[in-house]
Amino acid sequence: MARRKKIYEGKAKILYEGPEPGTIVQYFKDDATAFNAEKRDVIEGKGVLNNRLSEYFMTGLGSIGVPTHFLRRLNMREQLVRACEIIPLEVIVRNYAAGTMSKRLGIEEGTQLPRPVVEYCYKDDSLGDPLVTEEHIAAFNWATQQDMDDILSLALRVNDFLSGVMYGVGIKLVDFKIEIGRVYDGDFQRLVVADEISPDSCRLWDIETGQKLDKDVFRRDLGSLTDAYTEVAKRLGVMPKGATAMAKPTLIN
Ligand code: 5GP
Repeated sequence: MARRKKIYEGKAKILYEGPEPGTIVQYFKDDATAFNAEKRDVIEGKGVLNNRLSEYFMTGLGSIGVPTHFLRRLNMREQLVRACEIIPLEVIVRNYAAGTMSKRLGIEEGTQLPRPVVEYCYKDDSLGDPLVTEEHIAAFNWATQQDMDDILSLALRVNDFLSGVMYGVGIKLVDFKIEIGRVYDGDFQRLVVADEISPDSCRLWDIETGQKLDKDVFRRDLGSLTDAYTEVAKRLGVMPKGATAMAKPTLIN
């Protein structure tokens, strides 16, 4: 059996060379990290849930005309995606204050913002992904003005879609992070939503109770992360009721 080529290993995913040119296999690990990997653990079943949830969101975005890198899910932990050049920015959209925005500006967590606020962070773990402005992005040539217009429009479309989907299952989309990739079609390049969309990269609060159903459960030691993600998956109908992320084999007598 031929060993496939590992292209990159990150904190939550491994990328392998795909079966056809221009494709990549994205493998979802169970590793959870927070605070720039100072806190880490292995959460059984997280990778399976995120693979499913990211498939669900990326497919939904595709069906309303938002381009993504997603091609198809391959198995429990892997999906096939289009190879793209990742723009070195974390694009964050916030509907309610939380996390670093609350800390930075002294706004109570949960305060509804007057409009969605889009922030950009430079993707560099050694620097702790610092917040940057469009001036930095232009000066250091991380993206062009046309890219930035497209990124803003993509980010707001993703926000509208995700907010609506979540609202439909009683969940408030507080904020999220996406990454954007460039794909080349002959002489043309276009931007697509890349990486993953999952409770690892969103803040999701139950509308009724305020219960956190995202990675803050891990960051802030609020209980079982698998239970929280399973709840999101069940509400969205991504996992059938009664199923667990890691279905154990059953002995047949
Ligand atoms: P904050 O800036 O408040 O820490 O994060 C804002 C939103 O972006 C949260 O939903 C958070 O999960 C997401 N986010 C920010 N940085 C990262 C990151 O490095 N990795 C992931 N997975 N999500 C991030």
